[in-house]
Amino acid sequence: MIERLCVIGVGLIGGSLARALRAAAACREVVGAGRSVANLQTAVELGVIDRYETDLAQAVSGADMVVLCVPLGAMEGVFTAIKGRLAEQAVLTDAGSAKGSVIEAAQRVFGSVPDFFVPGHPIAGTEQSGVEASFPGLYQRRRVILTPLPNTLSSATERVRAMWEVTGAQVVNMDPVHHDEVLAATSHLPHLLAYSLVDTLSRLDENNEVFDYAAGGFRDFTRIASSDPVMWRDICLANADAILQMIEYFVDDLQALGEAIRRHDGEQLLAVFTAAKAARDCFIEKTTE
Ligand code: NAP
Repeated sequence: MIERLCVIGVGLIGGSLARALRAAAACREVVGAGRSVANLQTAVELGVIDRYETDLAQAVSGADMVVLCVPLGAMEGVFTAIKGRLAEQAVLTDAGSAKGSVIEAAQRVFGSVPDFFVPGHPIAGTEQSGVEASFPGLYQRRRVILTPLPNTLSSATERVRAMWEVTGAQVVNMDPVHHDEVLAATSHLPHLLAYSLVDTLSRLDENNEVFDYAAGGFRDFTRIASSDPVMWRDICLANADAILQMIEYFVDDLQALGEAIRRHDGEQLLAVFTAAKAARDCFIEKTTE
């Protein structure tokens, strides 16, 4: 049982966490915090939080669990605002999509990464953002990756693990560098490709003809290009090295496909498409079990 949960950044991720914990009666009080009063007021009206504070130091006061769900670029400012203001037994965690940058920000602000801070990342989301888009089932049967450091208190990690398990998530621990490499491949590169494809087509096609004739495949492939641009700018800057490495691999393989088309090398194309289809079919089978 969490006595007082403080969610800083009551949007899709923070709002869904608060909703799930409330639905499970796993916390007594939820305090929301953020920049705009309008969003926080909506969160109260929707029953996502009990009350809110716009002063972050005030918001964390007396909370036994503090979860940062702000864009990656805002994490350092939030650490600075709450430094020295957390309750003695408080556990601090975050939901940021890259872990190295958040850990470095904590190091800069606190001098060393506090032992009560458990970096985390729920592998769940939609292309929507804001508290209106939040829902309690977002984390059900999804993974949450925690990246505790050698000095992280195991009791803090266990409390964060227990919190996410209440939401229906499966929690795993991972090294933060490995986390950033894996997510660059499975999430960050696909988002970049979707944004880039839609941008290229929209600039090519002044009359919107491509979009007029686009069908389900285009819609499926580009859904994630409707995601929040600020969040994705922050992720690209925060996880630059791992993303650049993935772009390099991808550009090489795309060029190889282009070469195969130029050579009329049907065998090569068939080999790539067959291997890709088998890999995706296997992924779909595993994730719908
Ligand atoms: P979101 O819906 O846009 O919510 C972000 C919230 O943070 C908003 O309520 C916003 O409040 C607040 N905020 C922004 N800047 C702030 C600042 N400087 N100080 C205090 N509050 C601030 O975004 P989200 O999708 O929930 O993402 C939140 C975090 O989760 C990000 O770090 C993201 O990387 C991570 N994440 C996202 C997904 C996903 O698919 N969306 C998945 C996993 C992890 P105002 O409206 O008042 O500015």
